[in-house]
Amino acid sequence: MERTLVLIKPDGVQRGLIGEIIKRLENRGLKLVAAKFVHVHRAFAEEHYAIHKGKPFFEGLIEYITSSPLMAMVWEGPQAVAAVRQTMGATKPTEAAPGTIRHDFALEMGRNLTHASDSIENAKTEIDLWFKPEEIFPWDRASEEWISGSN
Ligand code: UDP
Ligand code: MG
Repeated sequence: MERTLVLIKPDGVQRGLIGEIIKRLENRGLKLVAAKFVHVHRAFAEEHYAIHKGKPFFEGLIEYITSSPLMAMVWEGPQAVAAVRQTMGATKPTEAAPGTIRHDFALEMGRNLTHASDSIENAKTEIDLWFKPEEIFPWDRASEEWISGSN
């Protein structure tokens, strides 16, 4: 079972979209195993987005992500990394497919509401960065066999 890191970035929080975004991930069949509401500092944000250091949008991205609290979560499920990226939609909202969060609620790449890990490897690194092991709560879901199961 895969796990992936999801952030509802400050614009998602400010716009009252926490519930909507969580609802869509729950509806998809993904399972929430960790969550916290945090206002991250610059050094932490720079570590999270280290891969983008030096790019023209980096400074603005750090300003954006540290401007206000955000919701950090770990979601679990079969192919969770790909499933969540698909539910989020393309980075650029005008290229995101209809029905995705970024299409349905955003217009610009600089305010695209969410972060989701882009590979299984990066998901592990990001989850370790954002969550201590004791902040992650695996739980048994009664409906599990109706959501995941290969035939
Ligand atoms: N971003 C931006 N301008 C750009 C490219 C990216 O503001 O030209 C921001 C945007 O918020 C994006 C984040 O930087 O979500 C990280 O970029 P990445 O390419 O990793 O996109 P993501 O993985 O979030 O789809
Ligand atoms: Mg990314």
